[in-house]
Amino acid sequence: MSESRPSPVTETGRVRWAELLPDEFRERRARCPLAWLPLGLCEPHGHIAAFGLDTIKADWLCDEGARRYGGVVAPTQGWHIHETGYHARWLEEVIGEEPAEIGTLPPDVLLRSFLFQLRALANAGFRAAIVLSGHAGGNQRDLRRVAAAFSAKVSFATEIFADPELVEGKFTGDHAGKFEISQLLAIRPELVDLSRLTRGSELGAGGRFALGDDAAEATPALGWAILQAQLDALGTAEERLKDALTSAAAPRVSLAETEGIWHTITLDQTPFVTAQPLAKQTPVSLASRWKPGEFYSQR
Ligand SMILES: [Zn+2]
Repeated sequence: MSESRPSPVTETGRVRWAELLPDEFRERRARCPLAWLPLGLCEPHGHIAAFGLDTIKADWLCDEGARRYGGVVAPTQGWHIHETGYHARWLEEVIGEEPAEIGTLPPDVLLRSFLFQLRALANAGFRAAIVLSGHAGGNQRDLRRVAAAFSAKVSFATEIFADPELVEGKFTGDHAGKFEISQLLAIRPELVDLSRLTRGSELGAGGRFALGDDAAEATPALGWAILQAQLDALGTAEERLKDALTSAAAPRVSLAETEGIWHTITLDQTPFVTAQPLAKQTPVSLASRWKPGEFYSQR
């Protein structure tokens, strides 16, 4: 950021739309009309970690990002795409046929909601958004597709990431392994119980409840190193938005216009990334409870 930019931290240090009074909100928006949108969900991360790991890290990165670089944190989207497409085989492999507690939405439901969230952010006077998904794997590509369709019609810029993308080449993302468990150990150590590391190992698929193989190597120090590198990358993303953040406000976006953008997205016959298996993925077993989600055609 340039030297002339004012400090992003308000006197109260509060950065959440939900916690700001109107004067405080408008002051922060006037300084930096950037919205931060955290996305996560509740899904298994082994017996050792809280279900909401993905949400917790997205919240933390957005809160710290807004404090450091300016802007306002929008309400967290705490439900996410799961179960469909490539998730189905993954669930069969790491959960098996055990009942699993997952806060899952199908792609069309989440992505249509996301489009209307972008509309609401534009109409609330923001010029750009940094969207951060703690849930990785491919959903970020669908989010980018929807955001690109929105930005083609509305003067509103976005930077969208799944959090491991912020540190590609420096750290390797995972699911409930050394990477993610370290992040949670740094942010909320009381939500990790390493005494349960070997729970279920003897039960085969599903017994470890989606725990990563190298979770035992997780440390708070590694978590802080990952999170600091991610915050630095978010600063670079904010820099890329500088032109958008100093542009004139867009006219109000109507409901009908937004419906039109969704219609355009659905006219494109390309399936959402999260609606199909990956190219070389082994098919889900016919008897698996996850089979119905493997190919999801609703749009
Ligand atoms: Zn996760």
